[in-house]
Amino acid sequence: MPSTFTHEFNHPTFKGNVSFSTGIFINGQFVDGSDNTTIDVINPTNGKVLTKISEATANDVDIAVEAAQKAYDTVWGLNAPGALRSKLLTKLSLLMAEHADELAAIEALDNGSTFGWARNADVAGSIDCIRYYGGWADKISGQTIETTEKKLVYTRHEPMGVVGQIIPWNFPLLMLSWKLGPALATGNTIILKPSEFTPLTAIRMCQLINEAGFPPGVVNILTGYGHTVGNAISSHMKIEKVAFTGSTLVGRKIMEAASKSNLKNVTLELGGKSPNIIFDDADLDQAVNWAAFGIFWNHGQTCCAGSRIFVHAKVYDEFLARFTAKTQSLKVGDPFLRETFQGPQVSEVQYNRIMSYINSGKQEGATVHSGGERHGTEGFFIQPTIFTNTKPDMKIVQEEIFGPVGVVIKFEDDEDVVRQANDTVYGLAAALFTTNLNRAISVAHKLKAGTTWINCVNQLHSNVPFGGFKQSGIGRELGEYALHNYSNVKAVHINLGHEMTLNAMG
Ligand code: NAD
Repeated sequence: MPSTFTHEFNHPTFKGNVSFSTGIFINGQFVDGSDNTTIDVINPTNGKVLTKISEATANDVDIAVEAAQKAYDTVWGLNAPGALRSKLLTKLSLLMAEHADELAAIEALDNGSTFGWARNADVAGSIDCIRYYGGWADKISGQTIETTEKKLVYTRHEPMGVVGQIIPWNFPLLMLSWKLGPALATGNTIILKPSEFTPLTAIRMCQLINEAGFPPGVVNILTGYGHTVGNAISSHMKIEKVAFTGSTLVGRKIMEAASKSNLKNVTLELGGKSPNIIFDDADLDQAVNWAAFGIFWNHGQTCCAGSRIFVHAKVYDEFLARFTAKTQSLKVGDPFLRETFQGPQVSEVQYNRIMSYINSGKQEGATVHSGGERHGTEGFFIQPTIFTNTKPDMKIVQEEIFGPVGVVIKFEDDEDVVRQANDTVYGLAAALFTTNLNRAISVAHKLKAGTTWINCVNQLHSNVPFGGFKQSGIGRELGEYALHNYSNVKAVHINLGHEMTLNAMG
C-alpha cells in the first residue's frame, strides 16, 4: 500500500514535522508499483536509508499513459482553455510558496543541497518558473499569414499530447518545474520520472498538484530507475515527445530509443564543461567570488558549472592566491547549518566518481593546489578542490566531473583562450570577466555556448532561454522558447474564393 513519509526536522534553519503520502502518482492517486518493489532513498549527509519509495515498472508507464491520454482527450489538451491552465499553474505556484520552507527542507535532506540555497535559489526559482508559465498559458497564439491566393491562413500552436519527462538529481524540484511549467501551459499531459536518487520533492508536489485542481491524469509522476521506467518512456509508442535532462551518455540512449520507436520529438538538456575566463583587466575581487560560486555552488553538481577557469598570465598568481583563500574559507558540512556553503555530494556513486576523477588528475601529473580529499568521516562530503599544472588532454580538463573540482589554467592572449575554451565536446555555458566592453562582446560572441555570462556566472531566470550547443543538448528550456518544445504548429487554410479549374497545366 502507498505509505506516508514522516520526518522530524530540528535544525536552526528549519524545525517541524513533515509528513506526506508517497507512492506512484497515476490519475491523481498514489498507488504501488506493479511489482510491489521499493527503492531505498539514502540521506547523503550520513549515508543511511531515509525511507523506501515505490518502484514503478514499464507496466506502470503503460497504465499512466492510458490515464494521461484519457485526461488529454476529455479534460485537458484542446478541452482546457488557456485561462484555466493559467489559473491552475498560478494556484500551484502559490501553494508552492506556502510550502517553500518545507520543500527546501525536503530537498536539503534528500539531495544534500544547503537549506539556504535550496530555499532562496532552487525553491524560489521553481515557484517563479511555475508562476511564469502560468502567465504564458492564456497568451499562446499563432499567426495569420497572407498568401497570393484569396485565402485566410492561420497557424495554431497545439499541444503535442502525452509527453514524457525524465529529470536528474542535481536540482530535483527546479528541474521538475522547468519541465512541468511549459508542458502544462501549452496543454500537454505528462508522465514525469524523477531521479531515483532524489524523488521526495517530486512526490510532495503530487499533493500540491491535486490541491491546485489539476484534473486527474494531467500530471503523472513515476518514481523508478532509468533503464526500466526511463527507457519505457523514451521508447513508448503512445508518448509523443520526450524531454530529458541528464548526462550526455543517457541523452544518446533516449534519442536512440525515441528513433527506434515512434520517432517521437526529443529535447535534451545535457552535460557541460564550461569555461570561465578571467582577463587581466577584470575586477579581481568580483572575479574570485564569482569563480568560486561558478564551480562550487551546489557542490559542483551544476550542469553549467564553470569548471575550467582560464586566467591571464599577468594576473594568474594573484588570482590563484585569492581564489585559493576563498575556496578554503567555504564551509563544508551539515546542509542545515546557516554557515554551510557546501553539503554532501548526492550519493555514494557520485562520491566515488568524483574521487576517481581527483585520483586520475593526480596520476596524470596535475597538481592538487587545494583540497582533493574526503571531508569528514560519514556521508558523501568532498573538499572543494583546485587543480593546477594541467594539460589540455587530461580527463579532469576534458570530462564533466560534476563535483567540487575546478582546474585553473594560465593563458597568454585572447585568441588562444577562445580556442582553448571551445576545445570541448560540450557547449552549455561560458563566462568571462573583463572591464573592456569591446573585448567582452567580441569574446562572448566567439564562445560556442548556449549561454555566455559577462562578469557573472550561473545566472538563470524563468524568462531567459537556457540550453546547449554541441553535445550539451537540443532545444531550449525556459522563456518563450521552451513553449516551442511542447507545441505542434498547425497551418489552417480557408479558401475565400480561390477557384479550382482543373487542367493539365496546373
Ligand atoms: P543521468 O543521465 O544519469 O540520469 C538522468 C535521468 O535519466 C535520471 O532520472 C535517470 O534515472 C534517467 N535514466 C538513466 N538511464 C536511462 C535510460 N537508459 N533511459 C531513460 N532514462 C534513463 O544524469 P544524472 O546523473 O541524474 O544528472 C547529472 C547530469 O545531468 C549531468 O551530466 C548534468 O550536466 C546534467 N544536467 C544538465 C542540465 C541542463 O540543463 N543541461 C541540468 C541539470 C543536469
